[in-house]
Amino acid sequence: MKVEILPALADNYMYLVIDSETKEAAIVDPVEPQKVVDAAKKHGVTLTTILTTHHHWDHAGGNKKLVKLLPDLKVCGGDDRITALSQRVTHKHTFQVGCLKVKCLFTPCHTSGHVCYYVTEENSNEPPAVFTGDTLFVGGCGKFFEGSGEEMYRALIDILGTLPPETRVYCGHEYTINNLKFALTVEPDNEAIKQKLAWAKERYDLGEPTIPSTIGEEFTYNPFMRVRETSVQKHAGQKDAVNTMDAIRREKDGFKVPKD
Ligand SMILES: [Zn+2]
Repeated sequence: MKVEILPALADNYMYLVIDSETKEAAIVDPVEPQKVVDAAKKHGVTLTTILTTHHHWDHAGGNKKLVKLLPDLKVCGGDDRITALSQRVTHKHTFQVGCLKVKCLFTPCHTSGHVCYYVTEENSNEPPAVFTGDTLFVGGCGKFFEGSGEEMYRALIDILGTLPPETRVYCGHEYTINNLKFALTVEPDNEAIKQKLAWAKERYDLGEPTIPSTIGEEFTYNPFMRVRETSVQKHAGQKDAVNTMDAIRREKDGFKVPKD
């Protein structure tokens, strides 16, 4: 499996997911269709599938145009508000893209129809990949527009958190530096946050993405993945993980990023 990172708009990511064996490919959240067509041509792959994480325009807004350019495309998603949707998927629904297996993970909260896509390659030593849209970011998570802390807990801890720790995380936006600045206010003594933030700033200065991370790594520096830790609960003034999830999301929503 090859994952080509395609930056889009101000800070979005689209991902071209290629099965190297059959040269079949899927595209995650193709908001800039022409860039996608050019990348598929460059890699000599046949695009068969759109994987839409959720209906927001900066993720699903390119579907219609891309289907016009490539009419045989299958458009997957978990929400009827997704434009050009042709296959409504549900939790644990699986299908193939070439030899790659795609498993849909229903993770409602940011939107009520949000889906993450878990991709594995059989008979391969390569780690799996998960495309997390606006549910899980590097060092953070999406706003709870249509859901609760309980739902985000289920999404981050019970669903994404139980994937193999080496699973690579490809998220919907480049928000890493701001997320980690917030993480440091939650846990000022956490060395993993300090190291990841220093690394993310280096990447930013080079104009390089901070994607992917791994599920295992996220548990070391992402406060929303760490809501079971006493240090995070203490900061939130809470005694259980779900209330902590709600409390730190509220705090992050009002967080002013410090200049440095
Ligand atoms: Zn969104």
